[in-house]
Amino acid sequence: MKLNLKRIFWPDTCPFCGKVNAGGICAACKKKVDSLQVKEPRCMKCGKPIRYSERECCRDCMHTRHVYDRGVSLWLHKEPVNQSVYRFKYHNQRFYAQFYACEITKSYEALIKRWIPEIIVAIPLHPRRRRKRGYNQAELLALELGKIMEIPVSGSILKRVRDTEPQKILDSRKRRKNLEKAFAVRVSGAAPRCVLLVDDIYTTGNTIDAAAEALKGAGVQKVYFLTISIGQGN
Ligand SMILES: [Zn+2]
Ligand SMILES: [Zn+2]
Repeated sequence: MKLNLKRIFWPDTCPFCGKVNAGGICAACKKKVDSLQVKEPRCMKCGKPIRYSERECCRDCMHTRHVYDRGVSLWLHKEPVNQSVYRFKYHNQRFYAQFYACEITKSYEALIKRWIPEIIVAIPLHPRRRRKRGYNQAELLALELGKIMEIPVSGSILKRVRDTEPQKILDSRKRRKNLEKAFAVRVSGAAPRCVLLVDDIYTTGNTIDAAAEALKGAGVQKVYFLTISIGQGN
């Protein structure tokens, strides 16, 4: 049954170069993508690769007080991963979500289980932006991860209440300011103890931190994150 479903929904194109290829990812892209997979040693906080295993955190995290507890990403945000994520985000390649979720759980299933998140929450888009794009790529990924990991996905707990400027056009000082009060949390009853946030790309961590701050303000104790790719730091 699972195989049949996969065959119906999974077109024979490579999710990285977009070329027709039976079974999805092509040999050339597989080689490149395997080399971009984030491996140990990684930063204990943001999950970025670090050079020496005796150091616990990357340079960014040594100077930043993150609100989230910890997170990991699957690949470095370089070619061809960046092109794939771009198409997933802006060019309606919604079915990549299933592929990404499978690849993420191949690497991080045990880690996610150790975190014991009660719910998975996607970083939401502002309703206006979501309407314009037609979908939220992070939400699609969260739903696929929830299916595989058998963890409920909440689409209502975290809301984007301010339509912020795209982070990539701002400098680091403005980025934090831009996200102030961008998120609101609504819980009915007791807040979940542990939440796993899902987004497509991790860059400075400002977005994840702003969401984590809102969640922790509402009583959530632990906030972890997972992203498809991560920008290269120190
Ligand atoms: Zn390819
Ligand atoms: Zn770090």
